[in-house]
Amino acid sequence: MNRFTDKVAVVTGAAQGIGAATAHRLAEEGATVAVLDLDADRALATAQEITAKGGSARAYGCDVADQDDVESVFTKAAADFDTVHVLVNNAGITRDGLFFKMPRNDWDAVLAVNLTSAFTCAQAAQTYMVGQRYGKIVSLSSRSALGNRGQANYAAAKAGIQGLTATLAIELGPYGINVNAVAPGYIATAMTAATAERVGSSAEEHQRLAAERTPLRRVGRPEEVASVVAFLASEDASYVSGQTLYINGGAR
Ligand code: NAD
Repeated sequence: MNRFTDKVAVVTGAAQGIGAATAHRLAEEGATVAVLDLDADRALATAQEITAKGGSARAYGCDVADQDDVESVFTKAAADFDTVHVLVNNAGITRDGLFFKMPRNDWDAVLAVNLTSAFTCAQAAQTYMVGQRYGKIVSLSSRSALGNRGQANYAAAKAGIQGLTATLAIELGPYGINVNAVAPGYIATAMTAATAERVGSSAEEHQRLAAERTPLRRVGRPEEVASVVAFLASEDASYVSGQTLYINGGAR
């Protein structure tokens, strides 16, 4: 499949995990990918892996929680590649803890990186998308949007992504822009490994318990989210907008 020939895609948090898998998938299908991440060195490594495989990518260090940084990186990337066709709001962090003792800083940090960044990046991207009457925005929500013990901040941010998505679909739809979200369940990445460590478990044991609770009896892989993001960012989903698609191995 070559669904992204001549398309420019910006993927945030693309140095590793789901973001890196998405950057690889879009590039494999012909996109030129701007690999944005807080960790500029790892973003560069991901971009180099993509180009080594024959794809087109460039790395940009960017703190998506910093509006000035986002605006200047989008200006730089759009100047390098002429425009932006696809935005994947993927950067995310967790700062888990029970609500009654959750520090305000942990609330603010999680909201800033997981939710406000999607607002800021989409606002930066839509200036190019509206002008060309074409754009695809896909944001990472989570199964945790439905509520998850120890994740008041993360659940609120990921539920916010779903409301933002539904609203941007209404406001940007008239300009030919599709806006959707995906809500993964347990996907084995550094994020879930860090959660395992925090609760005193090994990554393997944590995954085994998650797999037991999942109808498909296994946890997900980053590539299994990337393929759905690519679908929603492609013309295969041309009449899909305002939706959040759960990628959860059948769990309710
Ligand atoms: P990850 O921790 O492996 O990767 C996240 C990436 O985001 C890292 O490269 C990190 O450097 C980057 N990042 C963090 N803060 C940033 C900032 N301020 N600016 C720019 N980049 C920043 O996580 P992952 O598991 O690949 O998760 C990717 C997305 O998917 C996140 O939004 C996460 O909430 C969501 N998600 C993950 C799971 C899962 O089970 N792994 C489930 C549901 C949703």
